[in-house]
Amino acid sequence: TNTSDTCQVKTTCPYCGVGCGVNAEVSDNRLIAVSGDRDHPANQGRLCVKGSALHETTGLDGRLLEPRIDGTSVSWEQAIDHVAQGFRKTIEEHGPDSVALYLSGQILTEDYYVANKLMKGYIGSANVDTNSRLCMSSAVAAHKRAFGADLVPGCYEDLELAELLILTGSNTAWAHPVIYQRIVAAKKARPQMKIVVIDPRQTATCDIADLHLPLKPGSDGYLFTGLLSYLADNDALDSTFIDNHTEGFDSALLAAKQLTGSVAESARLCGLPETDLGLLYDWFSCTEKVVTLFSQGINQSSSGVDKGNAIINCHLATGKIGKPGAAPFSITGQPNAMGGREVGGLANQLAAHMDFSDPANIELVETFWQAPNMVHQEGLKAVDMFQAVHDGRIKAIWIMGTNPVASLPDADLVREALQRCELVVVSDCIEKTDTTACANVLLPATGWAEKDGTVTNSERVISRQRGFLKPAGNSRHDWQIICSVARAMGFDAGFGFRSPGEIFTEHAALSGYRNNGRRYFDISALKSLTEEQYNQLQPVRWPAAKQANLNPKRLFQSGQFNTPSGRARMVAVTPSTPVNQTSEQFPLVLNTGRIRDQWHTMTRTGKASRLLNHIDQPFVEISPEDAAHNQIADNDLVEVSNALGRCVVRANVTDRQPAGSLFMPIHWSAQFTSLARVDSLIAPICDPIAGQPESKYCPVTIRKL
Ligand code: SF4
Repeated sequence: TNTSDTCQVKTTCPYCGVGCGVNAEVSDNRLIAVSGDRDHPANQGRLCVKGSALHETTGLDGRLLEPRIDGTSVSWEQAIDHVAQGFRKTIEEHGPDSVALYLSGQILTEDYYVANKLMKGYIGSANVDTNSRLCMSSAVAAHKRAFGADLVPGCYEDLELAELLILTGSNTAWAHPVIYQRIVAAKKARPQMKIVVIDPRQTATCDIADLHLPLKPGSDGYLFTGLLSYLADNDALDSTFIDNHTEGFDSALLAAKQLTGSVAESARLCGLPETDLGLLYDWFSCTEKVVTLFSQGINQSSSGVDKGNAIINCHLATGKIGKPGAAPFSITGQPNAMGGREVGGLANQLAAHMDFSDPANIELVETFWQAPNMVHQEGLKAVDMFQAVHDGRIKAIWIMGTNPVASLPDADLVREALQRCELVVVSDCIEKTDTTACANVLLPATGWAEKDGTVTNSERVISRQRGFLKPAGNSRHDWQIICSVARAMGFDAGFGFRSPGEIFTEHAALSGYRNNGRRYFDISALKSLTEEQYNQLQPVRWPAAKQANLNPKRLFQSGQFNTPSGRARMVAVTPSTPVNQTSEQFPLVLNTGRIRDQWHTMTRTGKASRLLNHIDQPFVEISPEDAAHNQIADNDLVEVSNALGRCVVRANVTDRQPAGSLFMPIHWSAQFTSLARVDSLIAPICDPIAGQPESKYCPVTIRKL
């Protein structure tokens, strides 16, 4: 909408996976105010503190404004030519797997699409992964095992309709604040709605909990295998649903019983009072509408996939899925982790939610793209990718919109890997990050207020992110940069896109190509959008094979799943304890996570001074018992260390932290303080299926300085 000197643009928030709609008020190429979009289904007018400070983060300070090679400003033509020739020469000498792209859940679906197409169809390598690997890849793998595809069954409304809402591994109040606001409102309207928080820490989310289960760190899998055993022993199964719509029940139950055959055994393994755990089990078995919302506390584990399937098993065994207020619900961390999944932005995915397991899918994508060098096998996942950079197998890497030197496990090794690498290209909107410091080539990318395309949130709603400011300095859109490099490498045919709308419609067409209802992810109703229709696109929930609006909120309502048999698979899971255990030398477990008002490594939220009012410096939370044992007082400077590294931060002594474990935030990087890079302590241990690192369980020691 326009008035004489201001205009209002509908766009989406660039931070978390809730995907809130934002009204941006723009005047004279400046963002002067933001408000929540009342018409957007995710937030219905709400915003959290981070979202409402967006207009304080769009200034030019700290922006990367010119392309640079080895610190010298160059023209775009020189920069593109340098990257293209560098990649081409490396491929000629060492093969396609000697190069890699590392992407971000911050970039848009259109950016992801062309990056994936370039690597998998034209360069001929699947070494294209993303920081979303750190966020939800365990849930992706669990969905694929259970449902036959990476499908989120429910929607946000289910959280409000549930009679029992279980929040596990999620500090929803801080990590997904607008979802939390919706839950608080639902609880106020229906006080009989029960809320259970499963988390070793007493987080802010516990403030609305009827029951808090402070389980032993890493024991979540046992809690849910124990629940399945309990449901079977207490006549709480839905035998009709199991018989008609699932397979694998007997082996899943046998595996659960072998691990956790009684409530007492589950309680012992989880370190919980038997009566409290029994109460949750009883509520689950007696309640029809149950949603289990899970997030990083489940996913960031060396057995994250099994934990996800342990949760899904309980919902399948009781038929609590595909109905209003009943679903296992994975909520993603980043704004476009879901969009990246849709176009195949993970090294083990192909495109349109297909993967490498079926040669027919590879041939389908190859034909659709008319790909000259189609890859036929998975590439390296994030942690393995940087290990391959470190040991010289990958010689050229292009990192887009993310800061792995601060955010990947064993972060010092990642920095060393980039320092050794022959060619490091970084596209970013921010000039100085821990990762740009390691780059040979810097490419200035447009930022949130300038970028134009689509994102998908955690409830499968695709929304337009609209650019409303002119590109800062000499910056360009990520999709433009990728297409320019592709053409300079000689791949003119597949990369002649002139707008994000052209990319989106190709993506939509691919989703429906030779589909015939075989694949759930189908947005082919959007394949013929004109530029005007794309610009005006309203939020649309997929699948959208036939119509472009808010399509069915719930999947699997008919009990039909995306497996060859049409039945959901119950998986015989054997979740294990974390790989690295505490020792005499490293007796405490370090847990990591977000704080309320910061995002990732603070490159953008760090620009809004009021977002530092909540918490303005890195810290470690420690229980009063552990503090006393180590002679640490509140606010003391302490060193947290292990064999990989050390951090120096202030101690926050609090009884919200259980004895035996510590908590540190993920946000501080060397740009702010070189002594609080928490990922320099995290071991690169991953789930064997998902490749997601175990960032919630890291043995350390602490001492007062
Ligand atoms: Fe942005 Fe997430 Fe806050 Fe919504 S809840 S305003 S998407 S940070």
